[in-house]
Amino acid sequence: MKICIIGAGVAGLTAAIRLATKGYEVTVFEASTGPGGKLKEKMIGEYRFDLGPSLFTMPQWIDQLFIDAKKNPRNYFNYKKLDSTTKYFYEDGTVFTSSSNIDELEAQLKSQNIDTTNLKKYLKKTSHIYRTTEHIFIKSSLHKLKSYCNWQTAKSILQLPFIKSKVTMAGMNKAYFKDTRLQQYFNRMATYNGSDPYKAPGTLNLINHIEHIEGVYFPEGGMYSITMALYNLALDLGVKFEFNTPVTEIICTNGGQAAIGINNIEGNHYFDKIVSNADVYHTYKKLLPNQKAPVKILNQEKSSSALIFYWGIKKNFEALGLHNILFANDYKAEFEDIFNHKIPHNDPTIYVNISSKECPTDAPPQHENWFVMVNVPNNEGQDWEKLKKEIKVNIINKINRILKTNIEDLIAVEEVLNPITIEQNTSSYKGALYGNASNSTFAAFMRHANFSSKIENLYFCGGSVHPGGGIPLCINSGMIVGELVSD
Ligand code: FAD
Repeated sequence: MKICIIGAGVAGLTAAIRLATKGYEVTVFEASTGPGGKLKEKMIGEYRFDLGPSLFTMPQWIDQLFIDAKKNPRNYFNYKKLDSTTKYFYEDGTVFTSSSNIDELEAQLKSQNIDTTNLKKYLKKTSHIYRTTEHIFIKSSLHKLKSYCNWQTAKSILQLPFIKSKVTMAGMNKAYFKDTRLQQYFNRMATYNGSDPYKAPGTLNLINHIEHIEGVYFPEGGMYSITMALYNLALDLGVKFEFNTPVTEIICTNGGQAAIGINNIEGNHYFDKIVSNADVYHTYKKLLPNQKAPVKILNQEKSSSALIFYWGIKKNFEALGLHNILFANDYKAEFEDIFNHKIPHNDPTIYVNISSKECPTDAPPQHENWFVMVNVPNNEGQDWEKLKKEIKVNIINKINRILKTNIEDLIAVEEVLNPITIEQNTSSYKGALYGNASNSTFAAFMRHANFSSKIENLYFCGGSVHPGGGIPLCINSGMIVGELVSD
């Protein structure tokens, strides 16, 4: 069977690997110059940057792809578990480092006089939510009847009333913790899929299980080594790649009942099955302009986007680690600005990722490569050039205030990514980082399925469809497609 995959993002690569492992003939058409989608790297002067994702969780799901293909993952990439995860800075002077060693985390919090009374109880609850939802919401197609017809799923469904779907993440966190600093710390997990903790259901606090119990990892050589590992495995399994080859149309039979091929600059190519890893909005609007689109699903609220400054910094900052957060003073106001007012907040939470802390070759000696990111609304036509200038001033002031430095004088090189350029680079609708936001109880059910119910032989994977955005979920969406496609 001949299969075409549109897009070599993490999910497209995963689907390619799964389908090649099953023995199918797979060709991947990718618009850009190489694999990875949002998970690419770039040299800016003497500094290497991972352009998108920086936090690596659930590596075992990637390993599984290799194991199932009868390859040793360690021949392709290596990673280590981080003892300390993220260094947090608050405007009131509170500073602590998080950890997936819970006793260590508790000690860190106590050192800042943060009451940790319910910490272990809370993490037990988030683990329960994770285990209850993992099978049905992450690992299976939510849209196939057979997913509901097994004991594991039945057990999950019986537990659904107890997984905090009726309170918000922030509401649940407030019920467990009195200290607003700890609430803010746990509320931050909503940003891991571009959502608002004051709207997203408490169920999403399962992310705390992933970060605190499963742990956070760092891949040797940086995040891009994940892309290269997947790409090399796909090549070893015989997958063919056509780069610089945007697909312009998915060809369907006359009545649109079935997908039969794709069109690109070289003409028509015919396949038995088509998998789109391109954003689902882009897939319908640009590649299937003559087919009826599922408008309600495509118009769901999109996740937040980001403004990212890639800075080469002429100094070593001992006070910083690999992952650093400089928190907004008024977290609720920050999310109100992003999701309600559609403007960036003027005292934004700043995320600084410095991969040279783990990979010294990513920057010259005594220098660092700073990936400085703030969450912003997705693109609704805001003036991003103007906003970039304003946000940069706010970022610099906050970094200078909290780290007691003059960061502007230390910037050796700079490049910037905004919601428009994120969309241009990867076709992500409105530059959303994670597809749909999870800002409602039913958000999980409003993502597009991993297959088309109207057009036979057409499948979807990636952050804009089930189960959602972020590397671990994208890997699962590629795996689900691997399960669904058969002769
Ligand atoms: P994408 O990466 O969206 O790639 C889709 C591919 O399809 C692209 O290569 C594109 O060129 C190609 N394509 C599109 N249209 C066509 C066409 N017509 N023809 C051919 N090819 C086409 N996740 C985490 O887990 N941890 C993080 O720390 C994290 N941080 C992030 C920070 C940023 C700044 C960004 C942008 C994302 C972040 N994410 C993070 C999210 C994560 O990167 C994404 O969810 C994931 O990489 C998306 O993968 P995907 O498979 O959906 O494909």
